[in-house]
Amino acid sequence: MTDHTKPSPPSEAKVCKIENVKFTEGALNEMANPKHKTSKSRRDKRRTHKFLKAPNLSLCPQCQEVKKPHHACLSCGTYNGREVITVQQI
Ligand SMILES: [Zn+2]
Repeated sequence: MTDHTKPSPPSEAKVCKIENVKFTEGALNEMANPKHKTSKSRRDKRRTHKFLKAPNLSLCPQCQEVKKPHHACLSCGTYNGREVITVQQI
């Protein structure tokens, strides 16, 4: 394993052929790297809020079908007791 804490002494500058950017070999070791490994405990604690939730559902007062709250009912097309969309019967 290479030692990333100490930058190696600058040697002759190399030229990247694609970007034509000059960089020294020591500069490669100075890129941002995490100082410590993230432990399993810390990783899992970060993910405690990351899960799927069941959607909040309510019943339509007209047809008693399950619908999203504050949305028109998709089975009868009413919202707040008034028909707002025409539902095609298949
Ligand atoms: Zn309905």
